[in-house]
This record gives sequence, structure tokens and C-alpha cells, in this order.
Amino acid sequence: MLKPRSFRTDEVELLSNRIVRLSEEIYVLSRWKYGVPPLGGFYGADETRLRSILRTIIFHLVLLKLCRFRTDADNLLLCSTKATVQSKLSVRVAGCCAIECYIAVGKLSGECCEMKISIIKSTTLVIFVLCLLSLTASLTDAQQQRVRRGRGSAATSGSQRGMARVEERNVRAHIEFLASDALQGRGSASQYELITGHYIAAQLRQFGIEPAGDIDAASGGKTFLQTVALAEAKYTWNVVGQIRGSDPKGSREAVLLSAHMDHLGTGDLASGDNIYNGADDDASGVVAVLELARALGAGPKPKRTIYFVLFGSEETGGHGSRYFIARPPLPLSSIVANLQFEMIGRPDPKVPPSTLWLTGFERSNLGAGLAKNGARLVADPHPDQNFFQRSDNYALAKRGVVAHTVSSFGLHKEYHQPSDDLSHIDFAHMTRAISSIIQPVRWLVNSTFKPTWVEGKKP
Ligand SMILES: [Zn+2]
Repeated sequence: MLKPRSFRTDEVELLSNRIVRLSEEIYVLSRWKYGVPPLGGFYGADETRLRSILRTIIFHLVLLKLCRFRTDADNLLLCSTKATVQSKLSVRVAGCCAIECYIAVGKLSGECCEMKISIIKSTTLVIFVLCLLSLTASLTDAQQQRVRRGRGSAATSGSQRGMARVEERNVRAHIEFLASDALQGRGSASQYELITGHYIAAQLRQFGIEPAGDIDAASGGKTFLQTVALAEAKYTWNVVGQIRGSDPKGSREAVLLSAHMDHLGTGDLASGDNIYNGADDDASGVVAVLELARALGAGPKPKRTIYFVLFGSEETGGHGSRYFIARPPLPLSSIVANLQFEMIGRPDPKVPPSTLWLTGFERSNLGAGLAKNGARLVADPHPDQNFFQRSDNYALAKRGVVAHTVSSFGLHKEYHQPSDDLSHIDFAHMTRAISSIIQPVRWLVNSTFKPTWVEGKKP
């Protein structure tokens, strides 16, 4: 038995923050199993991950507990008597004691996974843990239906807790505007690209993101928009927002999350539908960045600084990203990673369901690092298409930043056609895709992991 001692307040906070973060990850993982109806259950890897997270949580709880009490840890997890216990999960903690965690379907919310942890700090540091978890493997069909019926109400309670989750209605809300005919295909360097930028800026403002674009002449403060002068008195725009890192050292490093907001505008009316809505390319990527901003803006402050950047005029040669690279808000060497999001509006049949791919996966250890931390991210199954070189990430990669594009583009025939519109978007896929990347990104922005290029693979 460890020798009891009092933890300092900052140690308790550190541990409890970690527990909250891990419990959010459990939530995200558990969403997968209901999000994929044809397969139903947890994927093997996810279940392994779930167990490993659970073990870590319990280890932290034991540490907290041991700081005051000599105890066997078997009373640590108090399961709600209102829950139907389905199965038990035994977890060994650091080889010193075994804990049984009850895996249950919570009747309280009907949600597939409901986990509440509250830590009450008092003179004796009492920990109450209410842990209700479920594993699909142990659920009968009837129980699964009950869980599905209850999902709506649980979503509300989840957002009240400020947890990392993506709502399909929010995904729809963004993309229905961005890919609407009203935006006339968001043509590069057009008035419609500017309107798109203002919409994105308004969303970032709501999510508590700090503007990091041009200085407003009137107020002297920063705006979200960055105006980029092009030739022939034309302009394009970027949108730049940030969350400053909370860690003194980490805040000097940044993770850049990006997408391009422009598309091809309008074409010849004679052909009928002349509006290139660009729902997949790249309204879907913009939505990913927006929902990442919502999730990361609501959670605890990240250790590293995060930039949310939406580039203009990608389709006409990457003018927005080139401007950003020429005048970065911090030295490019301080950007530890860039994830560009492109075309995640539909699944790619070439990869397993609910999986995203990363361009140039084998070129650096970023993809593997994210995958190890819960991302369902694999190598680009279309290497002959050279997608690594075909988005804004490439200009950054050429300057040394470990920069890749996340996508699930399955080479559909709507690519760069007026028919790339809302009717072809798979909202459930998009919601799951964005949801799945949040926790891995949260890990990245709180870690000290510095992705590096594989020897000889740096562009
Ligand atoms: Zn694109």
C-alpha cells in the first residue's frame, strides 16, 4: 500500500482535469458503436482503447483516493442503483489492486454512455464517482433500441456539460448556408467568398474564439478577417481565429486547423444548374474547423495555442494560404502541426466505415500519433491522385511545417461539378467524422508531442 500523503491543490486539479478529459474521450468512443448501424458494435480497437482509458481514469482516482485514505479501492466506483448492471469490467491498477467497474445501461438518461464524475474537495477529500458505461457486446437488441430512443434527451444533457460532441443539426446548419445557392458557389476572390468569411467569423465569435486577423482601423482591435490584395484590384480573404495556449511553454507552439472557404462560383447558365455549390469541396471542411472551434472553445483551455484558419482562393492557386505563410502570426517553426480538412461530406468506400484518411500519412508521424490517440485515420487510399500536394497544407509542408489534409473523398463524380450540392452530403457520416477527430486533436493541443517528418519524406 502506498504511504498516504496530502496532495497539493494543483496536483488534485491536474488529476481531475485529466479524468474529465478522459471521460470525454470515452463518450466520443462510445458514440461510434451506435453511429454505425450496419456494424453495430464497438470496433476491436475502440474497445481496447476504451479499456485502456478506463484503466487510466481509475489509476488517477486511486491516486487521489490514496492521498488521504488507506483503503482497498473496491468502494471507489459507486454505481447508481438506478442503473441496470449489464456486466462488470475488471481493471487492474498498477498491479497493486484490482477494481471492478460496472458496465451498465443508464436508466437515468437512456443514453448509451453516461458518465459523471464529481470530485468534492473537503478537508478529507471525498471522491464520489458515478460511473455508468455500456458495452455493446453485452447489450441485447431490445436494449439497443431503448438506448437509441433515449439518445435525443441525453444529447441535451451532454451539451449542458460542455462535453466534446458534435450535433448533426449544427453540421446541417453550417453547410446548408455555406452550400446554398444564395452563396453562388463561393467563387474565389468574389463578394460571396467575403460573405462566407463573415459567416465563419460570426460563428467563431460565438464560440469564444479570439480574432487574429487584420487590425480594425476604427477600434484598433483585431478582426477575424484578413484581406489579401491580388492583382488587378481584386481581393481574397482569410479568416483567422485563435485560442491562446494556457501553458507558458506550450502557448509558444501552435496547432493550425484549416480548410478553404472558396469554391468555383458559377458557370454557364445554358447548362442548367450553373452554381458550383461545393458542399463537399470544401464547405464540409469548413464545418469541421467550425465544430472543432466550438468544441475546443468550450472545453478547458488547451496548453498549446490553436489557430483556426479558413483560406480564400484555394481553387485559383492557394492565394490565401500563401499570404498567411508569408505573414504568419507566429514563426512557422512554432507551428507544430497543420491539419487541413477537405471533402469529408461523404464516406470513401475505399476505407472502412467511419474512417478518414490523411494525405501523405507515411511522410510524418502525425497520422500515427493521432490514430494512437483515438483517431480513425488511415493512409490515403488514392496515392496516384497526389492529394498531399493538392491542398493548402502543401505550401506549409514545403516550408517545413508538418502539414497534411484529412479527407474521406471517394473520387465521386460530383467533384468540381454543380452537382456537388447538399443532396449528396451524408450528414450522419460528416457528424461522426468530425466527432471522431475532436478528442485526438484535443490530445495534440495538450501534449508535448512534436510531429516530425520521416527521414527522406519531407517535401
Ligand atoms: Zn478543395
